[in-house]
Amino acid sequence: MNLILLGPPGAGKGTQAAMIVEKYNIPHISTGDIFRENIKNGTKLGKKAKAYMDKGELVPDSLVIEIAEDRLRKEDCKEGFLLDGFPRTVEQAVALDAFLADEGKKVDHVLDIDVDKPELLKRITGRRVCQACGATFHVTGMPPKVEGVCDKCGGELIQRADDTVETAENRIEVYNSQTKPLLDYYDRAGNIAHLDGAIGKDNLFVKITEILGE
Ligand code: AMP
Repeated sequence: MNLILLGPPGAGKGTQAAMIVEKYNIPHISTGDIFRENIKNGTKLGKKAKAYMDKGELVPDSLVIEIAEDRLRKEDCKEGFLLDGFPRTVEQAVALDAFLADEGKKVDHVLDIDVDKPELLKRITGRRVCQACGATFHVTGMPPKVEGVCDKCGGELIQRADDTVETAENRIEVYNSQTKPLLDYYDRAGNIAHLDGAIGKDNLFVKITEILGE
């Protein structure tokens, strides 16, 4: 099962991704996580990506496409994968389709989660992420049992550098101008489901399992 999660920052892609990969036993591939890992480790890729990420802008297509394809070539993607945060431009989507076609594969489902802007801003600015395992929480919507501590692994919860109001506003703008055109691209391909991200994480997950099947 080859899946893509689409939607603006703060729509709940990360939360759904965690539930989807657990149920369907496929790897969760987040290009944002790959970049953050590289920043943490001080790699050349991390340094390049950080300049864009700090401003809420997109990392150039050529760079992202290369790291996504490298990741998709790994053994654990043979039976399927869930892409979260990739593709983000039509150019990336075209490159992904070409890459998969070469491998005799295709995108099976695109899940588009939509949420209105005031709610997105509330979710992004209240988001807290575990530094160790990447699990996400929200200060009011999904608080951890102990403030600042990850329920899953005991790691420290932090606010992402790009989860400030200004950067979040820019990321939403960037989504509207550069990523939204992808909805038309996949509408034409006929494999996209449009989902309301305001119905609560459990209700949304039920809808997703109805689409993906048991
Ligand atoms: P995310 O964790 O998906 O919200 O991504 C965080 C940041 O990483 C984005 O704001 C971009 O700067 C960068 N990024 C992640 N994925 C991509 C992508 N597919 N194309 C371009 N930039 C990306």
